[in-house]
Amino acid sequence: MTSANVKIGVVGAGTMGSGIAQISAQAGFETVVYDVSQEFIDKGLERVRASLQRFAARGKITAEEERRILARLTGSLKLEGLSASALVIEAAPEQLDLKREIFKKLDALCAPETLLATNTSSFSVTAIAGATRLPERVLGMHFFNPPPLMALVEVIRAERTSPAVVEKGLALARQLGKTPVTAKDTPGFIVNRIARPFYNEALRILSDDQAEVLTVDRVMKEAGGFPMGPFELMDLIGIDINFAATQSLYEASFHDPRFRPSPIQQRMLLAGNLGRKTGRGFYSYGQK
Ligand code: NAD
Repeated sequence: MTSANVKIGVVGAGTMGSGIAQISAQAGFETVVYDVSQEFIDKGLERVRASLQRFAARGKITAEEERRILARLTGSLKLEGLSASALVIEAAPEQLDLKREIFKKLDALCAPETLLATNTSSFSVTAIAGATRLPERVLGMHFFNPPPLMALVEVIRAERTSPAVVEKGLALARQLGKTPVTAKDTPGFIVNRIARPFYNEALRILSDDQAEVLTVDRVMKEAGGFPMGPFELMDLIGIDINFAATQSLYEASFHDPRFRPSPIQQRMLLAGNLGRKTGRGFYSYGQK
């Protein structure tokens, strides 16, 4: 499949949806991004514009390419706007019932050949596919934050995903300029299973009063060689999204204590301190 005249639909114009929409338009696909309000669509498209401007300023794309990429990208307030897509990637909030409802609607709207992918970090793709009549065409495509910069995509084969759909998912991920790896539909797939204890131990260090946020982040960067510390990373991901992923892994692993969520994160969630997207998390980012 070439990208010419091929449409990709994205559900959710948030942190991940806007980034996925950007790489899709960059790869030459006509891209439609759906969200529940014009405000969220505008914010998402603004993030794409800002990211492309940074690429242009660094000479990675020309002004003409920037214009063409943006011309391939449109917003839609109707899920029907995604119905002509070859692939729909869902990046709505990390809530299982919501994702199942979206997949049920997509299943009814899209042609049987349309691949339906979820970007879930922590839910069973099989549980999401179970809301559709054609679970054979449902797969996981788990991108990493920020999608324009992170190469990896975990392609997840759910219980009833057809092998041909997995192959198409792998090929499409490559067309999007990414490096796909197949992963089984087990809690956290590969990356999140490893990453959860990384965040959780940092939170335990904080609750044990063993070290401060800044110290932990500095140690991990300066001694550990990590590009970001765990607290900076949680702020980038979004406290709500990170907490939801930990909670669902905890449930899915039959309450394995390694994945037990932290009350510190829960308090931040209740206070609305969700990290960069609200201007305040473990760090302050000015008014949003
Ligand atoms: P986000 O909160 O930044 O964005 C979610 C978007 O979905 C918002 O724009 C919101 O308006 C929209 N939305 C709300 N209700 C909706 C509905 N009914 N239909 C469609 N859209 C709706 O969240 P995010 O960080 O982009 O996460 C999205 C998904 O990607 C989650 O499943 C998350 O687990 C996964 N994910 C997140 C990260 C990360 O680092 N943030 C990384 C990998 C995967």
